[in-house]
Amino acid sequence: MNVDLHCHSYFSDGKQTPEFLIQRAVDNNISHLAITDHDCTDALDLAAEIATDVVIVNGVEVSCLWDETEVHVLGLLVDRDNQQLSTLLRAQQLSRLQRMQAMDKKLEALGTQGLLAYIERLGCVACSRSHAADFLVDNKLCKSRQKAFKSHLGKRGKLYVRANWVDLAGAIEAINAAGGVAVLAHPSRYPLNTAKLTRLVAAFKRHGGEGLEGTYANIDPAAQKQIKELAQANDLYLSAGSDFHDSAAQWTDIGKFPPLDRQAHSRAIWLHPRWQALYPSA
Ligand code: AMP
Ligand code: MN
Ligand code: MN
Ligand code: MN
Repeated sequence: MNVDLHCHSYFSDGKQTPEFLIQRAVDNNISHLAITDHDCTDALDLAAEIATDVVIVNGVEVSCLWDETEVHVLGLLVDRDNQQLSTLLRAQQLSRLQRMQAMDKKLEALGTQGLLAYIERLGCVACSRSHAADFLVDNKLCKSRQKAFKSHLGKRGKLYVRANWVDLAGAIEAINAAGGVAVLAHPSRYPLNTAKLTRLVAAFKRHGGEGLEGTYANIDPAAQKQIKELAQANDLYLSAGSDFHDSAAQWTDIGKFPPLDRQAHSRAIWLHPRWQALYPSA
Protein backbone atom coordinates (compact mmCIF):
# COMPACT_ATOMS: atom_id res chain seq x y z
CA MET A 1 0.00 0.00 0.00
CA ASN A 2 1.37 3.35 -1.04
CA VAL A 3 -0.98 5.84 0.59
CA ASP A 4 -0.84 9.49 1.59
CA LEU A 5 -3.66 10.29 3.99
CA HIS A 6 -2.84 13.88 4.95
CA CYS A 7 -2.36 16.89 2.67
CA HIS A 8 -3.73 20.38 2.09
CA SER A 9 -5.08 22.38 -0.86
CA TYR A 10 -5.64 26.11 -1.27
CA PHE A 11 -9.14 25.71 0.19
CA SER A 12 -7.27 25.82 3.52
CA ASP A 13 -3.58 26.70 3.90
CA GLY A 14 -2.12 24.55 1.12
CA LYS A 15 -0.65 26.40 -1.84
CA GLN A 16 -1.79 24.08 -4.62
CA THR A 17 -5.03 22.98 -6.26
CA PRO A 18 -6.68 19.60 -5.69
CA GLU A 19 -5.74 18.81 -9.32
CA PHE A 20 -2.07 19.42 -8.53
CA LEU A 21 -2.20 17.18 -5.45
CA ILE A 22 -3.82 14.38 -7.40
CA GLN A 23 -1.36 14.66 -10.31
CA ARG A 24 1.50 14.60 -7.83
CA ALA A 25 0.01 11.47 -6.26
CA VAL A 26 -0.13 9.84 -9.72
CA ASP A 27 3.50 10.81 -10.41
CA ASN A 28 4.58 9.38 -7.06
CA ASN A 29 2.68 6.09 -7.50
CA ILE A 30 0.23 6.72 -4.67
CA SER A 31 -2.76 4.36 -4.63
CA HIS A 32 -4.94 6.23 -2.09
CA LEU A 33 -4.82 9.98 -1.42
CA ALA A 34 -6.76 11.81 1.30
CA ILE A 35 -7.00 15.59 0.94
CA THR A 36 -7.44 16.72 4.54
CA ASP A 37 -7.90 20.47 4.54
CA HIS A 38 -8.16 22.31 7.85
CA ASP A 39 -11.83 22.55 8.81
CA CYS A 40 -13.25 22.29 5.29
CA THR A 41 -14.13 19.63 2.75
CA ASP A 42 -14.61 21.84 -0.33
CA ALA A 43 -11.61 20.36 -2.15
CA LEU A 44 -13.32 16.98 -2.10
CA ASP A 45 -16.06 18.14 -4.47
CA LEU A 46 -13.47 19.18 -7.04
CA ALA A 47 -11.36 16.08 -6.45
CA ALA A 48 -14.35 13.81 -7.01
CA GLU A 49 -14.73 15.19 -10.54
CA ILE A 50 -11.18 14.38 -11.59
CA ALA A 51 -10.80 11.08 -13.39
CA THR A 52 -7.70 9.33 -12.12
CA ASP A 53 -6.32 5.98 -11.06
CA VAL A 54 -5.67 7.34 -7.57
CA VAL A 55 -8.44 6.54 -5.10
CA ILE A 56 -9.51 9.79 -3.42
CA VAL A 57 -10.28 9.16 0.24
CA ASN A 58 -12.52 11.78 1.84
CA GLY A 59 -10.77 13.64 4.61
CA VAL A 60 -10.66 16.71 6.83
CA GLU A 61 -8.37 17.98 9.64
CA VAL A 62 -10.30 19.49 12.52
CA SER A 63 -8.58 21.89 14.94
CA CYS A 64 -9.72 21.35 18.49
CA LEU A 65 -8.89 21.97 22.12
CA TRP A 66 -7.96 19.39 24.70
CA ASP A 67 -6.93 20.52 28.16
CA GLU A 68 -5.84 23.98 26.89
CA THR A 69 -3.76 22.40 24.12
CA GLU A 70 -4.60 22.80 20.44
CA VAL A 71 -4.68 19.39 18.78
CA HIS A 72 -5.62 18.28 15.25
CA VAL A 73 -7.94 15.39 14.48
CA LEU A 74 -8.13 13.91 11.00
CA GLY A 75 -11.48 12.60 9.85
CA LEU A 76 -10.94 9.95 7.17
CA LEU A 77 -13.73 8.33 5.09
CA VAL A 78 -16.20 11.04 6.18
CA ASP A 79 -19.48 11.63 4.37
CA ARG A 80 -19.07 15.27 3.37
CA ASP A 81 -22.84 15.79 3.13
CA ASN A 82 -23.36 14.89 6.78
CA GLN A 83 -25.24 17.67 8.59
CA GLN A 84 -23.50 17.45 11.94
CA LEU A 85 -20.03 17.58 10.39
CA SER A 86 -20.96 20.41 7.97
CA THR A 87 -22.40 22.44 10.83
CA LEU A 88 -19.24 21.97 12.87
CA LEU A 89 -16.99 22.91 9.93
CA ARG A 90 -19.00 26.08 9.24
CA ALA A 91 -18.63 27.10 12.90
CA GLN A 92 -14.88 26.43 12.75
CA GLN A 93 -14.56 28.48 9.54
CA LEU A 94 -16.38 31.36 11.24
CA SER A 95 -14.08 31.10 14.28
CA ARG A 96 -11.11 31.28 11.92
CA LEU A 97 -12.51 34.41 10.25
CA GLN A 98 -13.28 36.06 13.59
CA ARG A 99 -9.80 35.32 14.84
CA MET A 100 -8.35 36.82 11.64
CA GLN A 101 -10.50 39.95 12.11
CA ALA A 102 -9.14 40.33 15.64
CA MET A 103 -5.58 39.81 14.39
CA ASP A 104 -6.17 42.40 11.66
CA LYS A 105 -7.24 44.94 14.31
CA LYS A 106 -4.12 44.22 16.35
CA LEU A 107 -1.93 44.62 13.29
CA GLU A 108 -3.65 47.90 12.39
CA ALA A 109 -2.93 49.16 15.88
CA LEU A 110 0.72 48.40 15.17
CA GLY A 111 0.51 50.45 11.96
CA THR A 112 -0.09 47.95 9.14
CA GLN A 113 -3.36 47.73 7.26
CA GLY A 114 -4.63 45.17 4.80
CA LEU A 115 -4.37 41.72 6.45
CA LEU A 116 -8.09 41.02 6.24
CA ALA A 117 -8.36 42.36 2.68
CA TYR A 118 -5.42 40.11 1.70
CA ILE A 119 -7.13 37.06 3.22
CA GLU A 120 -10.39 37.86 1.43
CA ARG A 121 -8.57 38.10 -1.92
CA LEU A 122 -7.10 34.60 -1.44
CA GLY A 123 -10.54 33.05 -1.58
CA CYS A 124 -9.76 30.21 0.83
CA VAL A 125 -12.60 28.61 2.76
CA ALA A 126 -10.65 28.09 6.00
CA CYS A 127 -8.28 30.98 6.61
CA SER A 128 -5.30 30.36 8.86
CA ARG A 129 -2.32 31.87 10.61
CA SER A 130 -0.30 30.37 7.80
CA HIS A 131 -1.87 32.94 5.42
CA ALA A 132 -1.17 35.70 7.94
CA ALA A 133 2.48 34.55 8.01
CA ASP A 134 2.67 35.01 4.23
CA PHE A 135 1.21 38.52 4.56
CA LEU A 136 3.77 39.46 7.23
CA VAL A 137 6.64 38.17 5.07
CA ASP A 138 5.31 39.79 1.86
CA ASN A 139 5.04 43.12 3.69
CA LYS A 140 8.57 42.76 5.08
CA LEU A 141 7.37 42.81 8.67
CA CYS A 142 8.99 39.40 9.19
CA LYS A 143 11.98 37.76 7.50
CA SER A 144 10.46 34.27 7.29
CA ARG A 145 7.28 32.38 8.05
CA GLN A 146 9.03 30.68 10.99
CA LYS A 147 9.96 34.09 12.42
CA ALA A 148 6.41 35.34 11.82
CA PHE A 149 5.08 32.52 13.99
CA LYS A 150 7.64 33.28 16.67
CA SER A 151 7.21 37.06 16.89
CA HIS A 152 3.59 37.58 15.77
CA LEU A 153 1.42 34.48 15.40
CA GLY A 154 2.49 31.99 18.05
CA LYS A 155 1.17 31.89 21.61
CA ARG A 156 3.52 34.65 22.76
CA GLY A 157 3.26 36.61 19.50
CA LYS A 158 2.13 40.23 19.09
CA LEU A 159 -0.97 39.31 17.10
CA TYR A 160 -1.92 36.16 18.97
CA VAL A 161 -5.62 35.61 19.43
CA ARG A 162 -6.95 32.39 20.92
CA ALA A 163 -9.20 30.53 18.48
CA ASN A 164 -12.59 29.35 19.55
CA TRP A 165 -12.19 25.69 18.57
CA VAL A 166 -14.51 22.77 19.23
CA ASP A 167 -13.31 20.48 22.03
CA LEU A 168 -11.72 17.09 21.35
CA ALA A 169 -14.88 15.13 22.16
CA GLY A 170 -17.00 17.32 19.84
CA ALA A 171 -14.58 16.92 16.94
CA ILE A 172 -14.48 13.12 17.27
CA GLU A 173 -18.25 12.94 17.68
CA ALA A 174 -18.90 14.88 14.46
CA ILE A 175 -16.39 12.75 12.51
CA ASN A 176 -18.00 9.56 13.79
CA ALA A 177 -21.48 10.91 13.04
CA ALA A 178 -20.30 11.41 9.44
CA GLY A 179 -19.24 7.76 9.25
CA GLY A 180 -15.57 8.71 9.45
CA VAL A 181 -12.58 7.31 11.29
CA ALA A 182 -11.00 9.83 13.69
CA VAL A 183 -7.19 9.85 13.65
CA LEU A 184 -5.06 11.99 15.97
CA ALA A 185 -2.78 13.96 13.62
CA HIS A 186 1.01 14.22 14.13
CA PRO A 187 1.01 13.25 17.85
CA SER A 188 4.68 14.19 18.38
CA ARG A 189 4.19 17.79 17.24
CA TYR A 190 2.25 18.97 20.29
CA PRO A 191 4.01 20.68 23.17
CA LEU A 192 3.27 17.74 25.51
CA ASN A 193 5.57 15.59 27.61
CA THR A 194 5.24 11.80 27.51
CA ALA A 195 2.84 11.65 30.46
CA LYS A 196 0.53 14.25 28.96
CA LEU A 197 0.67 12.75 25.47
CA THR A 198 -0.27 9.40 27.03
CA ARG A 199 -3.26 11.09 28.69
CA LEU A 200 -4.24 12.74 25.40
CA VAL A 201 -4.22 9.40 23.57
CA ALA A 202 -6.31 7.77 26.33
CA ALA A 203 -8.83 10.64 26.17
CA PHE A 204 -8.88 10.43 22.37
CA LYS A 205 -9.69 6.72 22.54
CA ARG A 206 -12.31 7.21 25.28
CA HIS A 207 -14.11 9.79 23.15
CA GLY A 208 -14.30 7.42 20.17
CA GLY A 209 -11.05 8.08 18.31
CA GLU A 210 -9.77 5.08 16.34
CA GLY A 211 -6.31 5.87 15.03
CA LEU A 212 -3.02 7.72 15.47
CA GLU A 213 -0.95 9.16 12.67
CA GLY A 214 2.01 6.83 12.87
CA THR A 215 4.26 8.50 10.32
CA TYR A 216 4.55 11.91 8.68
CA ALA A 217 7.14 14.18 7.09
CA ASN A 218 10.27 14.62 9.22
CA ILE A 219 9.11 12.40 12.08
CA ASP A 220 12.10 11.03 13.99
CA PRO A 221 12.49 7.28 14.68
CA ALA A 222 12.01 7.69 18.46
CA ALA A 223 8.67 9.48 17.97
CA GLN A 224 7.57 6.88 15.43
CA LYS A 225 8.33 4.11 17.93
CA GLN A 226 6.52 5.94 20.73
CA ILE A 227 3.39 6.43 18.62
CA LYS A 228 3.40 2.79 17.54
CA GLU A 229 3.58 1.73 21.19
CA LEU A 230 0.76 4.12 22.14
CA ALA A 231 -1.34 2.58 19.35
CA GLN A 232 -0.57 -0.92 20.64
CA ALA A 233 -1.36 0.03 24.26
CA ASN A 234 -4.68 1.66 23.30
CA ASP A 235 -5.64 -0.70 20.46
CA LEU A 236 -5.68 2.03 17.82
CA TYR A 237 -5.03 1.93 14.07
CA LEU A 238 -2.02 3.69 12.54
CA SER A 239 -2.31 6.11 9.63
CA ALA A 240 0.31 7.66 7.34
CA GLY A 241 0.47 11.02 5.59
CA SER A 242 2.84 13.73 4.43
CA ASP A 243 0.96 16.82 5.70
CA PHE A 244 2.01 18.35 2.37
CA HIS A 245 1.20 22.07 2.00
CA ASP A 246 3.41 23.57 -0.69
CA SER A 247 5.52 22.34 -3.59
CA ALA A 248 7.90 25.27 -3.03
CA ALA A 249 8.92 23.66 0.27
CA GLN A 250 11.22 21.16 -1.38
CA TRP A 251 11.69 18.86 1.59
CA THR A 252 8.03 17.84 1.42
CA ASP A 253 6.19 15.89 -1.23
CA ILE A 254 3.06 13.84 -1.63
CA GLY A 255 3.89 10.38 -0.29
CA LYS A 256 7.15 11.50 1.34
CA PHE A 257 7.46 10.19 4.90
CA PRO A 258 9.20 7.22 6.57
CA PRO A 259 7.36 3.92 6.00
CA LEU A 260 5.38 2.17 8.73
CA ASP A 261 7.40 -0.83 9.95
CA ARG A 262 6.13 -4.43 9.88
CA GLN A 263 4.58 -4.25 13.38
CA ALA A 264 2.85 -0.99 12.55
CA HIS A 265 1.51 -2.51 9.32
CA SER A 266 -0.44 -5.03 11.39
CA ARG A 267 -2.65 -2.18 12.63
CA ALA A 268 -2.58 -0.01 9.48
CA ILE A 269 -5.65 2.14 8.93
CA TRP A 270 -6.49 0.37 5.67
CA LEU A 271 -7.27 -2.77 7.72
CA HIS A 272 -10.17 -0.90 9.36
CA PRO A 273 -13.50 -2.60 8.51
CA ARG A 274 -14.96 0.65 7.12
CA TRP A 275 -11.94 1.14 4.85
CA GLN A 276 -12.19 -2.50 3.73
CA ALA A 277 -15.91 -2.08 3.04
CA LEU A 278 -15.21 0.89 0.76
CA TYR A 279 -11.96 -0.29 -0.86
CA PRO A 280 -12.00 -4.09 -0.62
CA SER A 281 -8.99 -4.72 -2.82
CA ALA A 282 -6.64 -2.79 -0.57
P1 AMP B 1 -4.02 27.77 12.23
O1 AMP B 1 -4.75 26.61 11.60
O2 AMP B 1 -4.60 29.08 11.85
O3 AMP B 1 -3.81 27.62 13.69
O4 AMP B 1 -2.60 27.84 11.54
C1 AMP B 1 -1.69 26.83 11.76
C2 AMP B 1 -1.06 26.41 10.44
O5 AMP B 1 0.10 27.17 10.23
C3 AMP B 1 -0.62 24.97 10.52
O6 AMP B 1 -1.57 24.13 9.94
C4 AMP B 1 0.67 24.95 9.74
O7 AMP B 1 0.39 24.71 8.38
C5 AMP B 1 1.20 26.34 9.89
N1 AMP B 1 2.19 26.50 10.97
C6 AMP B 1 2.00 26.31 12.28
N2 AMP B 1 3.10 26.61 13.00
C7 AMP B 1 4.02 27.00 12.11
C8 AMP B 1 5.35 27.45 12.20
N3 AMP B 1 5.98 27.56 13.37
N4 AMP B 1 5.99 27.79 11.07
C9 AMP B 1 5.37 27.68 9.88
N5 AMP B 1 4.10 27.26 9.71
C10 AMP B 1 3.43 26.93 10.82
MN1 MN C 1 -1.61 23.77 7.85
MN1 MN D 1 -2.06 19.68 11.69
MN1 MN E 1 -2.22 19.13 8.26
